[in-house]
Amino acid sequence: MSLIVVGSVALDSVETPLGKRDDMLGGSAVYCTLAASHFTNAKLVGVVGEDFPEKAIELLRARKIDLSGLETKPGKTFRWSGVYSDDMNERETLYTELNVFEDFNPTIPEDVRAAELVFLGNISPALQLNVLEQMTGTQFVAMDTMNFWIDGARDELIEVLRKVDAVIINDSEARQLSGSANLLAAARAIQKIGCPTVLIKKGEHGCFQVCRDDCFVAPAYPLETVVDPTGAGDTFAGGFMGHLARAGSSDPRTLREAVIYGSVMASFVVEQFGVEGLLELTDAKIGQRYTEFRNLVSF
Ligand code: AMP
Repeated sequence: MSLIVVGSVALDSVETPLGKRDDMLGGSAVYCTLAASHFTNAKLVGVVGEDFPEKAIELLRARKIDLSGLETKPGKTFRWSGVYSDDMNERETLYTELNVFEDFNPTIPEDVRAAELVFLGNISPALQLNVLEQMTGTQFVAMDTMNFWIDGARDELIEVLRKVDAVIINDSEARQLSGSANLLAAARAIQKIGCPTVLIKKGEHGCFQVCRDDCFVAPAYPLETVVDPTGAGDTFAGGFMGHLARAGSSDPRTLREAVIYGSVMASFVVEQFGVEGLLELTDAKIGQRYTEFRNLVSF
C-alpha cells in the first residue's frame, strides 16, 4: 500500500542539555516520511521557500521519498526553534516563523491521489479536510493535531475526527480534546466522537492504543541518553503508518505491531539531533530493537 504524508517541512534550531544545532532539517512531514521510508515508499506533501537547502532535498531523495507534492514558493521556509529543560520533559518554543507555510494549501498531485494510507500531520483541520477531499481511494487515515486547533477550531476538528480511522495525540491533547483527566476515559470519549482508533502518547512513559474494543499498552524503549526529543511524535507516526503500508493491513494485530514499530523508530530519533538518527538505520537494527521490545514486555 502507498502512504502519503501531509505536514510541515522546516528548518529547526534546537537547544537541549546535550548541545545546540541551528537550521536543521525538520518538520512533521519530514520526520514522518523519513521514519516511514524504512518500511515503504512514502510521499511527502508540503511547502518550502526558495532558501530550502538542496542538500536537504538530496537527503530526502536518497531515502526514496516521493517529493512530487513538495512545492517551492517564493519566500522563506518555515522556521521553528525550541529549548528543552534539563530533564527534557519540558520544551519552550523560542519562535515560530510560518513564512511560506502560512499560506500552505496542499495540492495532492494527480498520480498520488489514489494512495491508500494517509497521515495528516499537524495542520489546520480545514486543510486536513481539504486533503481528504482530494484523495480517491483511502483505506486508512490517521491524523495528528495540537492544542492550538483543539481550542481554536474545535468544530472543524471534530469533523475531521469523524472522517479518519485513527488519531495519534499526546496525553495533554487527549485530555483537552475530551475534557476527561483519565486517559482511558479520554480515549473512549474520542472514540464516541467517531474515530475508532485512538493512540495516546505519553512521552518517556510509552503509549496506549484503543482500537474499538482492543486496548494495547506499550512502554517507551528505555534509553540511558536522550539527545534531542524533537520530532519523536511524528517519527512514531511514520513507523506506525510505514508498518501498516508494508503489511497491507490495519487489523487489530497489525495495529499493535505498528505501535511497537512506531516506538522503535521514535527511540532511534531521540538518540541524535534532528533527523540524524533516522538516516543510518538498517532493517537489521530496526528488527533487533523490535525483538528487544518483545523481550521487555514478556513475563
Ligand atoms: P514534535 O517534537 O513532535 O512536536 O515535532 C517538532 C517538529 O514540529 C519540528 O520539526 C517543528 O519544525 C515542527 N513544528 C513546530 N511547530 C509547528 C507548527 N505550529 N506547525 C507545524 N509544525 C510545527
